[in-house]
Amino acid sequence: MPLAREAVELLIQASRVWYFEGNQHGLRDREWMALRFLGRANRFSRNPSAVAGFISATRATASQIVKTLEGKSFLVRKPSQRDKRSVVLHVTAQGEKCLNQYDPVNRVLNAVTALGPDECVRLRDLLQEILNHLDEARQRLDAGVCRNCMFLAERRPSTGKRRATAEFLCRLYRAPVSLEETELLCTNFERTRDRPKLEEDFDRARVASQE
Ligand code: SF4
Repeated sequence: MPLAREAVELLIQASRVWYFEGNQHGLRDREWMALRFLGRANRFSRNPSAVAGFISATRATASQIVKTLEGKSFLVRKPSQRDKRSVVLHVTAQGEKCLNQYDPVNRVLNAVTALGPDECVRLRDLLQEILNHLDEARQRLDAGVCRNCMFLAERRPSTGKRRATAEFLCRLYRAPVSLEETELLCTNFERTRDRPKLEEDFDRARVASQE
């Protein structure tokens, strides 16, 4: 128990990087959180309700945050191609530059990258396991990476070097998903424990590419 407490205290200290008073480089912590999420979200999750869910805010608060980010030219809204009554939020080149240069979590990102690819995989899996325990009480995660979702199916199964040409289908939205999109966050994510091979393939490829 003392070891577990020590680990949790370290996590709390790390969280001070992304939860803070006031603002950093002109944005408050929740505004950073929303911009960071939109920079990593897939096309189904780049809307104000998904932002509200992800940052645990009311719809009104999320709309205000989106307006602030639009006012700074970090976001633009465009009509959704799937449903013309909805909007899809896009991070602008200026928003991406701001994330790359000033996002407060970049310091943590650099420190985690310095651990090396194998330790990164271990750390991610440990944190995922912790979140899964917490998630049991809350029923679901706020968002997850598409490639681990139970709704993702391979339309054209591929192996080894042909992985880059694989095509996927989201069975929830009944829409095609590209290989690049399987790496993005989705707020309709549902974790599966039955497709470890796909995840292992991705991990192996990424660890190899960083060696
Ligand atoms: S497969 Fe899951 S994570 Fe991917 S787009 Fe569909 S619902 Fe979202």
